[in-house]
Amino acid sequence: MERVAQQCKQCGREIYFDGICISCRTENERNRILALTQEEMDVSIQQICNEIEIKGKLDEERDLFQKLLNYRDIDTQKIAEVAFKNNLFYPCELYKDAPADVITEMIEMIMQDNLNSRLAGHLLLCLAVHGGETVFQSFLELEKHPRNWRKELYVSPSFYATYGGWSYDNSHRFIETNFKKCYPMVKGTLDEKNCSPVKIGVKTDEKCSKCGCRIVNLMEIDGRDPRLDFLEIDGVIKVKCCPNCFEYSDGDFCRYKIDGESELISGNDSFITEDYLKDKGIEELASNSYILGDIPVPPRYAADWEGGSSIGGFAFWIQDCDIKLCPDCGKPMKYLAQIQWDTVLDDMEGNAYIEICKSCQVIGVLHQQT
Ligand SMILES: [Zn+2]
Ligand SMILES: [Zn+2]
Ligand SMILES: [Zn+2]
Repeated sequence: MERVAQQCKQCGREIYFDGICISCRTENERNRILALTQEEMDVSIQQICNEIEIKGKLDEERDLFQKLLNYRDIDTQKIAEVAFKNNLFYPCELYKDAPADVITEMIEMIMQDNLNSRLAGHLLLCLAVHGGETVFQSFLELEKHPRNWRKELYVSPSFYATYGGWSYDNSHRFIETNFKKCYPMVKGTLDEKNCSPVKIGVKTDEKCSKCGCRIVNLMEIDGRDPRLDFLEIDGVIKVKCCPNCFEYSDGDFCRYKIDGESELISGNDSFITEDYLKDKGIEELASNSYILGDIPVPPRYAADWEGGSSIGGFAFWIQDCDIKLCPDCGKPMKYLAQIQWDTVLDDMEGNAYIEICKSCQVIGVLHQQT
């Protein structure tokens, strides 16, 4: 059957089915969750607990849980208790506010040698999302004295920790890999964009030496805006990259100067020589009118499909969470921002992720898609 183009009944965008587009549907659902009263939220939390109690898993209410968590940052204590009683360790965010006794028991489990490695992986993620000193110390213990199950896992506990927004360096010093605050990028006008402390896609005069595509500042961030105090960046930083090449690389880096131009760090491993974006793509990217939102949102607000672009908080990792090691100091970098490609470039899929090492003044960019 031939697919016929029609318009989204809400925003007018071209779609190939009857009704409203995915992005409008997500927005409507988000508005519905944002409007819930505390009582209504309590009822929803009870609904989630009931499903776990009855089915031993989170299935029909999975989506509701995710949205309450992302948009309202609900307290998950009660849900964690029910989940633990029912041996449910997925999704790991169930345990964000797990009570101390549950965490103690989970640590006892993970310290065993003869644990199914799959379960061990889930436990590590749940503990990581909860975080805290006791969890940190137990991760270090597991790092120093790996249990049997560790052989079956591809990565070390320090990698699992990043799902909770933290990790540690080689000398086992605690490192935060996420900012606690989060601001969304919202639609504005081009005039408003000129005054916005965060801009997406600003053209530079440089061309990529490999593919010839125009180099852009994927983001420009003015940390002096009071909203961005939490970044502790006293000036403008520019996230420079070749928007064509970096999609095919495992992560590109640039060196920034506060209030200066950034410099690409050579050695990106991309082998792409054709410019797929061309000037047309660059113009489209640069013409977006996204601006920094006025009010902060919960840290996981953008951590889902159609989560949009955002600064701080948690990313929506389409593949695995990927906190890069700083090419200078070798320590885990800190996740800074995400750009949802199709909001600024119609033909692009996936997300761009921006990470930073402030002590070395290095920025990393990476790309993920399905
Ligand atoms: Zn729409
Ligand atoms: Zn390039
Ligand atoms: Zn560094």
